[in-house]
Amino acid sequence: MNKLLIVGTVAFDAIETPFGKTDKILGGAATYIGLSASFFNLQSAIVSVVGDDFPQEHLDLLTSKNIDISGIEIVKGGKTFFWSGLYHNDLNSRDTLVTELNVLADFQPKVPQNFKDADIVMLGNLHPLVQSSVLDQMEKKPKLVVLDTMNFWMDCALPELLDVIKRVDVITINDEEARQLSGEYSLVKAAAKIQELGPKYVVIKKGEHGALLFHNREVFFAPALPLEDVFDPTGAGDTFAGGFSGYITQSENISFSNMRNAIIYGSNLASFCVEKFGTERMETLSKAEVAIRLQQFKSLTQFDIEI
Ligand code: AMP
Repeated sequence: MNKLLIVGTVAFDAIETPFGKTDKILGGAATYIGLSASFFNLQSAIVSVVGDDFPQEHLDLLTSKNIDISGIEIVKGGKTFFWSGLYHNDLNSRDTLVTELNVLADFQPKVPQNFKDADIVMLGNLHPLVQSSVLDQMEKKPKLVVLDTMNFWMDCALPELLDVIKRVDVITINDEEARQLSGEYSLVKAAAKIQELGPKYVVIKKGEHGALLFHNREVFFAPALPLEDVFDPTGAGDTFAGGFSGYITQSENISFSNMRNAIIYGSNLASFCVEKFGTERMETLSKAEVAIRLQQFKSLTQFDIEI
């Protein structure tokens, strides 16, 4: 089985959407990536950090999904990373209310020995220096390195972010972040500029408007499945990244045409994530449900026109 190494936050989130509000619940980029990637045939491990305020049941959940958590450090007396967000009525935009780095502030990641030869590395949202440090620890060059980031790190650690971006093959970011990173409004121009920074493949996530994959002059677009009910978009981007990297890990194929499939798998899994608050939907999701919705994706996008 191929190995996927995941880096990112394991966190407490407090979320408010037009449909309700949660207290501190399980969140974090690596949590969503791990849950999503667990739908593929692979071995995965998370590198992250939490405080000793983090409930064992959350760690047990990750273990129950066959995720190796030996790379999640538990800091005695430390407080877990906390993020709080408020979604606007359209659910496409949100305000970050609180970001408390806590134990993340001094985190020195340690990649488990048996994952230093991972096939694919998924650098989830986290301080870019932590993302770089994980790459430094790899003993074998990964077949593909995927990086996800957000405006927070562009605002407070841009030089470090640009350094790690140089070292990755694929970057996944949302449309506003692509504009911020490139200084270009047009997403086509933004993707071209971002490719000049290092990544040969640029994935731009557009929430309910789907995702774009750029590579040289080629572009692929996947819609998001039109859903009746969206409760909470938190983690959709990370779930997408987990589906994308999980599929690539399982299929061992890093061609552009296979990445198109990966985009569909990522979009498919993300469509479930938003149906309930936090990780709730991903925790109970079955492979059968994933397969049924994949068929819906196919019907949504297939047409027969002779050209
Ligand atoms: P998404 O909705 O895909 O952007 O991901 C939301 C998740 O990212 C939440 O579960 C948060 O805990 C986590 N998160 C929010 N801000 C940050 C940050 N600055 N760095 C790393 N993870 C973050």
